[in-house]
Amino acid sequence: MRYVEEFRDPKAAKGVLAAIARVVDEIGATKEKPVYIMEICGGHTHAIFRYGLDKLVHEGVEFIHGPGCPVCVLPMSRVDECVELAERPEVIFCTFGDAMRVPGTKKSLMQAKAEGADIRMVYSPLDALELARRNPDREVVFFGLGFETTTPSTALSIQQADREGLTNFTVFCNHITVPPPIKALLDDPHMILDGFVGPGHVSMVIGTHPYDFIAEDYGRPLVVAGFEPLDLLQSVLMVLEQIRDGRSEIENQYARVVPEHGNPISLAAIADVYEPRPTFEWRGLGEIDASGLRIRDAYRAYDAEVKFGIGYGAATGRAVVEEPEGCACGAVMTGRMKPTQCPQFGLGCTPEMPLGALMVSSEGACAAYWTYGGARMVEAAE
Ligand code: SF4
Repeated sequence: MRYVEEFRDPKAAKGVLAAIARVVDEIGATKEKPVYIMEICGGHTHAIFRYGLDKLVHEGVEFIHGPGCPVCVLPMSRVDECVELAERPEVIFCTFGDAMRVPGTKKSLMQAKAEGADIRMVYSPLDALELARRNPDREVVFFGLGFETTTPSTALSIQQADREGLTNFTVFCNHITVPPPIKALLDDPHMILDGFVGPGHVSMVIGTHPYDFIAEDYGRPLVVAGFEPLDLLQSVLMVLEQIRDGRSEIENQYARVVPEHGNPISLAAIADVYEPRPTFEWRGLGEIDASGLRIRDAYRAYDAEVKFGIGYGAATGRAVVEEPEGCACGAVMTGRMKPTQCPQFGLGCTPEMPLGALMVSSEGACAAYWTYGGARMVEAAE
């Protein structure tokens, strides 16, 4: 299969692993004093564990798992607001399946559905648009969630609803952007990050230049990477070579998919429909300036926060909810703790009974550890 098998070739992987080991030795990194490389995207975290790359690379490389899973960084207060919307009798609440089991303060969307709320799992905002056409007497709310990868499809749906004059379709907008949290992490004096593996799908939309500040202002290399094992190994090698050579540049390993300047149609749709919020709350990171998007006034008829007066659109302001006791999601998401170091991992928090979002999302770091070996580690410790 073109673009898959050649990126899983064991012989080629051995060659890149040997090159990584050589460069790590040239840098002088060791297990005790490793090079810290953050993979920003949750999809990369899962690929690293699925293929055992964390075990295969030289022990002088340590992967730090970043905040690039949109379900994981959703604060509990937003989940509560989703439930509040979904439980309105007039509402059909549409969401991607990933968000169904994320715990809120009192319940998840899955529990709300079990109690009778009309919640539908959809694969695209276009499914929600179709539901709005077929149910003119109901209010269809789409849970717009995700980074720049999913933002354009929600924008195009809002534009389509506007063209059709649909009056019963709104979006609960939780779209967020990648560069601001990276800046927040780089500004954190407790973080040690020597370089980044950059997100492939997000970059397909925004291109590589929004990361320029990482190299120019912070002197760190970033390599945009694909999702196959050889993509990731080659990207790690490119980051390490930059560190060895004293360079800090934005490089693109995933050039077969990521254009330097992104996707102009997607970028135009984003610019037409959204504007940056002054601030947005992230689980584990708090409020980050200009890190979230809201729907522009020209499309306010499609903004669920405005129509239903909740969230950032609430007249009384919105509640910030503390994480449950013992939950270390914030520390894991900012790379200060490995999932297996969370006291709840495999005990108070499992995929069947999650305490935090990182255990339920298909891109969550805790789910990756659990799926690819964490469960066995817990059993061995018992
Ligand atoms: S094990 Fe559960 S509570 Fe602990 S960090 Fe992971 S998701 Fe959060």
